[in-house]
Amino acid sequence: MTTTLLWFRQDLRLFDNPALLWAAARGAILPVYILDTTDPWAPGAASRWWLHHALTALQAALAQHGLPLVLRRGDPRQLILQLAADAKADAICWNRCYEPHAIARDTALKARLKDSGLTVATHNAALLFEPWEIKSQTGTPYKVFTPYYKACLAQNKAQPVGGAPDKLTAAPALPSEALADWHFLPNQPDWAAGFGWDATPGGAERLLQNFLQEPLPNYKTARDRPDCAGTSRLSPYLHWGQIGPRQIWHVIQTAMQEARPGVINGGEAYLRELIWREFCTHLLYHQPAMPEAPLQDSFKRFPWRTDAAGLRAWQNGETGYPIVDAGMRQLWQTGWMHNRVRMIVASFLIKDLLLPWQAGESWFWDTLVDADLANNAAGWQWVAGCGADAAPYYRVFNPLLQSQKFDPDGNYIRRYVPELAELPTAHIHAPETAPPEVLRAAGVQLGSHYPRPILDHKAAKARALAALETIKAQN
Ligand code: FAD
Repeated sequence: MTTTLLWFRQDLRLFDNPALLWAAARGAILPVYILDTTDPWAPGAASRWWLHHALTALQAALAQHGLPLVLRRGDPRQLILQLAADAKADAICWNRCYEPHAIARDTALKARLKDSGLTVATHNAALLFEPWEIKSQTGTPYKVFTPYYKACLAQNKAQPVGGAPDKLTAAPALPSEALADWHFLPNQPDWAAGFGWDATPGGAERLLQNFLQEPLPNYKTARDRPDCAGTSRLSPYLHWGQIGPRQIWHVIQTAMQEARPGVINGGEAYLRELIWREFCTHLLYHQPAMPEAPLQDSFKRFPWRTDAAGLRAWQNGETGYPIVDAGMRQLWQTGWMHNRVRMIVASFLIKDLLLPWQAGESWFWDTLVDADLANNAAGWQWVAGCGADAAPYYRVFNPLLQSQKFDPDGNYIRRYVPELAELPTAHIHAPETAPPEVLRAAGVQLGSHYPRPILDHKAAKARALAALETIKAQN
């Protein structure tokens, strides 16, 4: 009987997993997961927490079919060859990853495996469109979202969803490391205690079903409101491949065909966001330095400040700007942050504090459960104004106006900054403007109990725009 080594990576599911279906059709399977110790963007702490639970769920799902998951730590370029030899496998398969390190690693490994006479098959489990598939009329990769989006839609591509294999056959087991020995879960203090995620494919299914019932019809407007559950929260599951975009695409399109009121609008807006995700991967694939360097060269000369205290206040949610602090505390408490608030806190770091976007990118990398190299780098460069199709740098978010517009009743702030919970709505967005008796009645002592604003937004904006002029002047 033939044996296939099935290498799980960011595709931690059995449903709609093309590499798994391919291996199952061949014969016996040896499933492995390798913790790649050579990855310069190894998962941050919150992602490791997620990965622990995702691997536990994968182990359980495979065990139901009698397949033990082999865990190893090290350099996959060596480990895969060794495991293939130990398992007497004649084929290896995996689903593709698109990070620069993964591409270089997999290309080198594939060549070595083929030289050794093994069959290698790679598949797409993560994307609707391969990054090389969508090209402009001149044959170049897109740098602007809207034409990219239109080109994707114009493909009118069927997105077939593979099911789960009926039957899996186990290859003889090989020794495995113990997941607990990877120490992915926090020690004391357990900062993940309140995360509240069900980091399993079943968790993704439930969120998708809930999303179809409630937020989908209102998604177009509700997606900007951090005070209500207006988005799907599927980002960490998509990152780890516990649900695939083809499945989501199919489910949303089916709901749109049933045409409940609002669903068509909401569905279109939602599918557009899924294509933003594709666009970010497309950008990273074609511009692999994106996580480290601004896509616009002039920003390499940007006069960023250094300000350790400012950075710490931002990270801890102690800037004295309630909407910023609520976002940073949501991140700390749940490992996730609402998209609108990601933009607000990113703008505050980059433009108000004038700190380099890479400092925010790396904090998000460590603290987000959905940390994703392409989406994170593209998100930060978009806000910084130095990316592809970015918001221009001079468009500086006013945290007060953003707060009043998108958290009008202050409920998001009340939830994550409980020391302000008793403030009336009129003052919750800017407590420093509240009269002393209002503060007293709400039990708020500015400066001790909740910080005064660490900077003046108007002055900070002027400083940011002056900094921008310096790089323009040198062009
Ligand atoms: P929904 O609104 O339900 O959208 C559905 C899916 O579409 C998301 O799960 C996500 O996969 C994709 N999507 C939505 N918005 C975007 C977007 N702007 N860019 C790319 N894909 C998008 N997203 C990540 O997945 N990982 C990150 O590390 C990440 N870092 C970010 C950093 C900054 C500074 C900013 C501004 C945005 C970042 N995003 C990141 C994008 C976005 O904030 C999240 O994808 C979104 O908040 C996830 O919530 P959701 O699943 O409820 O989204």
